Order: sequence, then C-alpha cells, then structure tokens
Amino acid sequence: MDYDLIVIGGGIVGAAAAYRAGQLGARTLLCDRHDAGRATDAGAGILAPESSTRDGRLWYDFALDAVDYYAELIESLAADGVPDEELSQAYSRCSKLTVALDDDEAAGLADMELEIYARQEERCPPAAERIRRISSAEARDAYFPLLADASAVLLQPVARRVDGRLMTTALAHGLRRRGVQTVDADVSALLLENNQALGVRTAGGDEFTASAVLIAGGAWSDAFGAQLNARIPVAPQRGQIIHLRLPGQDSSSWSILSGFSGHYQVPWPDSRVVVGATRETGSGYVPHATVDGVQEVLREALRLAPGLRNAAVHEIRVGLRPYTVDHLPLLGPIPRVCGVYLATGHGPTGLTLGPYSAKLVVEQALDQPVAWDLTPFSTSRFAR
Ligand SMILES: Cc1cc2nc3c(=O)[nH]c(=O)nc-3n(C[C@H](O)[C@H](O)[C@H](O)COP(=O)(O)OP(=O)(O)OC[C@H]3O[C@@H](n4cnc5c(N)ncnc54)[C@H](O)[C@@H]3O)c2cc1C
Repeated sequence: MDYDLIVIGGGIVGAAAAYRAGQLGARTLLCDRHDAGRATDAGAGILAPESSTRDGRLWYDFALDAVDYYAELIESLAADGVPDEELSQAYSRCSKLTVALDDDEAAGLADMELEIYARQEERCPPAAERIRRISSAEARDAYFPLLADASAVLLQPVARRVDGRLMTTALAHGLRRRGVQTVDADVSALLLENNQALGVRTAGGDEFTASAVLIAGGAWSDAFGAQLNARIPVAPQRGQIIHLRLPGQDSSSWSILSGFSGHYQVPWPDSRVVVGATRETGSGYVPHATVDGVQEVLREALRLAPGLRNAAVHEIRVGLRPYTVDHLPLLGPIPRVCGVYLATGHGPTGLTLGPYSAKLVVEQALDQPVAWDLTPFSTSRFAR
C-alpha cells in the first residue's frame, strides 16, 4: 500500500483529519478539488456553543469538547512552526452578544436563557466568564458601538472566532511539517475489492492505494454513495455572507452579534464586520450570490446594527454547507464496507465541530483509542 490513509477533501475537516493522521505518524495523502462554494472559505467562524440552544444535547456536549480541542490544535500547530501572528489571525477569543430587538424576540431570549443558565450551572465557569444579561446601553458602549436599541441582551464573555481560510492555511503548513502529502485532484472513484477499501482513482487516471479512505468532501460527499451502495445523506445548503469594511474604526474589541432571525455579525480586528447569512436548503450546487440573498443579509444586518449603513461592501462569499436533516454530522465507518470512513455533514457548525470530528474519525480509522462513542453520528441512524 502507498498510504495508511487517504483523505478526500481539503476543507477544514479534511485538512484537520490529514493533520491528525500526520501527528500519529501515519503515511497520509490528502486529495482536494478546491470546488467553488467550499464551505470553509465562506464560514462566518462563530464558535460559541455555550449560548446556543438550537441543536439539542448531543450536539451541545460534542461542541463543548470540540471548542476545547482548538486550544490543543493551535498549540500543536505553533509547535510545528506556524507563526503566532498567522495563528492569532486564524483563531482568537472574543465575546458574543445575543440580541432581542422587540418584545417577541425578548420572550424568545427569556426561554433560551433558562436552558443556557441550567447548562451553565453544570459547567460552573469562573464568575467573569458567566453568561449574563446586560443593558442595551452597556452592550453598545462596551461591546458593539453600532448596535440598535435592544429589548434584551445576553452577554457571553468568552466565545471564539475562527477564519476558516486562514485555519486551513495554517493546517497546510502543519501538514508539510508532518510529512503529509497533498495533491490537487478530483477523486472520481474509490478502489474497492470485496467490500474492502484499497485506495482511490482520480479523474486524471492516477491511482493511489491505502488501507483506509476518509471521505471529507463536504456537501459533495454523497457522490461516493452509489459506489458504496450506501446513502450518504448530506446535501448542499447555500449560505451567502457579506464582508463589510469600516475604514478608520477599531473593531478589534467588538463582540460577535447574534440576532433572532438566524442572522449574525462577526467583527474582525482589521475594521471588518462579516454579516450573514442565508440558509438556503435545497439550493443545489449553485455557489453564486443572488439578489434575494444579498438583500436579506443586508436588511437583517441593518436591523441589528443600523450604524453599518455607510460601511463599504468589500466582498460577498458563498458557501455550500454540508447539510443533514437532523443537524448532526456523519462520522465513522460506512456500514458493511471495510476501511471507508466519513467525516462530513457538519452543516452550519462545521468550523466549530470539524477539527474535533476529524481527529476522532482518524483515530478510529487508525485503530487508536477514541474519546467519544461515534455511534450516534453513524449513517445508520437514518436507516432506523
Ligand atoms: C455562510 C456560512 C457561514 C458559516 N458559519 C459558520 C460558523 O459561524 N460556525 C461554524 O462552526 N460553522 C459555520 N459554517 C459551516 C462550516 O463552514 C462548514 O460546516 C464547514 O466548513 C464544512 O467543512 P468541510 O471540510 O466538511 O467542507 P468544505 O469546506 O466544503 O470542503 C470540502 C472540500 O472537499 C473537496 N471535495 C469534494 N469532493 C471531492 C472529490 N471527489 N475529490 C477531491 N476533493 C473533493 C471540495 O472541493 C472542498 O474543497 C458556515 C458555513 C457557511 C457557508
């Protein structure tokens, strides 16, 4: 065999998987096709499961471990020679506000709060890190000067943000350091014999052999379902997101903002605020911005922060989230096929969960101890 592991897909999940395999000393090849619409390149980068009640307990417990894993990952990349400046641009801690703008939203926030506080009691964070109510005036003065008048505001003093593109670049640096090989290639087929993985074939006709293959192809992962005689229930969900610039404004200490219509804003230190995003289930593989999408994003951005009215529109990004109907990822072996593993389906929270998911699945594929029972994330949950 040429390799112990071949990873298909070089978004945050595939790159983190290949990096973990490299850390474990496995002979590893990463194949990536760089599709337009790669979700990692468009992701807003909010890592804040502590104040999210949308996705249930399993997601929450997994997400807490996943955000903790970032510290370990960053430390390892630093030890592998990725410059501190590059890492601090890719990943940093910041605060987050959840903002209700009218009475209906304030009632929704009060409901969320009960669950957030109950979970917080279990974790017992230090007093300075506890999620709590603050006034609209304090939110504007201390955390986001362009904020609208709010009916209610919840402050999460410690959240994190990640720039998916820069994190993938940092991982690529780590891959070189760990001797992981990478190739720009479209994997057109798996090599299989008697339901056992033998490697991959590329559209260019090259064949690479390996004892195990990990499919981390994001929204495109289901392309291998027919060959595996298995359904890989992941579909593209388009997200349109807009980068705004505020020349002369120091946004370095501003908070992430999260509203009640699913929209949010992520400030970055370079006078940039990223506002998003649409969630277009059923969009198909069509990674372009639309008039409707841009209008929706800007309308919601101004509702939350009217002070953005004169910001410069710098860039519009479009990504295809790998969406599953139950909002949980697809992790672990493909049933009835030896040596083929999945790490996909992270939907709107793949920057949060992805590196940790990737680490666990790689450990499973390489017969290492695995800290989580991945059974609830198997594709077999859809067969039941
Ligand atoms: C607008 C938007 C906002 C988001 N905001 C957040 C957020 O705030 N927080 C959060 O946690 N998550 C967020 N996400 C979600 C997150 O970005 C995704 O879940 C995550 O990036 C998915 O990573 P991935 O590696 O699975 O897929 P991708 O990044 O899409 O990468 C898949 C890669 O696989 C390659 N590939 C596919 N098939 C093949 C093949 N046959 N051969 C070779 N290569 C192949 C593709 O070319 C691509 O490069 C957001 C997403 C979007 C679109």
